[in-house]
Amino acid sequence: MKKILTVVTTALLVFTGGTVFADEWYITHEPASSEDFAHEQNVGAKMHQQAVQCLNVFGSRRVAELKKEFSGKLFITFFDPVRNATRLTMASKREAQKQIALAQHGGLELVLYGRHAQQHRRIQGLFQYDATWRAVLVPALTMTQPWFCGVFLHELFHASKDRKRVVEKRQRDTFLNPAWVDEEVRAHEFEREVLSAFTGGQYVHAVKAFIAHERDLRLRDIQATLQRRGFSAFDQLFSPASENEMSIRRAQVLVDATFLFVEKEGGGIEEKREAYISIFKKNRR
Ligand SMILES: [Zn+2]
Repeated sequence: MKKILTVVTTALLVFTGGTVFADEWYITHEPASSEDFAHEQNVGAKMHQQAVQCLNVFGSRRVAELKKEFSGKLFITFFDPVRNATRLTMASKREAQKQIALAQHGGLELVLYGRHAQQHRRIQGLFQYDATWRAVLVPALTMTQPWFCGVFLHELFHASKDRKRVVEKRQRDTFLNPAWVDEEVRAHEFEREVLSAFTGGQYVHAVKAFIAHERDLRLRDIQATLQRRGFSAFDQLFSPASENEMSIRRAQVLVDATFLFVEKEGGGIEEKREAYISIFKKNRR
């Protein structure tokens, strides 16, 4: 149980319904042959590139800050569920030495895991910042770029906060306690900013339109109202996606609608904190 408390999960909720696509995993089993390792290495290079591209989202000051902090410092490893460890897969010794140097001098490890590792106890959500490993766990899954970047940068936000805590020798507040929840609220608001940047502001506009359209909306009814109304107003802003990505999207839309509703009613961080906790408790798997 203790281990779970140090871990941050992003996908709190699973909603069903709507058109979903089968999840496409780049990695489905532990590599056993040289072809498998070559494939793993290609996946690593591809996902590294995808992650680096997220640092170039324009119009977000916070993304620019993360770029400054992590640019040139992200490196990929692979999760080995049998050993509960990570492994470097490199074409050459030189490349491997470069990665090891990054690991030793302020690099941030992105641990990719495949479909076969999903049930491992270490994997608590699709993406997570693992505070014991001080690494971001990333599913080797095909995703649309706006949502990959939204969730990935959310986790990078946690990584950055954690680094500051380490320097200042502070502990993170425990699970669901005020400072913990406040960081989660900020991370989700940052994610909203990223999604909005990708859609030229249309994403936030759609969430606000939902709130404005529902007369007499109450905080505790937001989730049921969203489910009744459906998510097409949000889905149409992005490409179709897999089941896992859809569950991430549903959770984020709910959190965004909740926080923007709180703001509209004149509430602040305390009301958001309470609302987050109640969403979390209601949807905990
Ligand atoms: Zn988070």
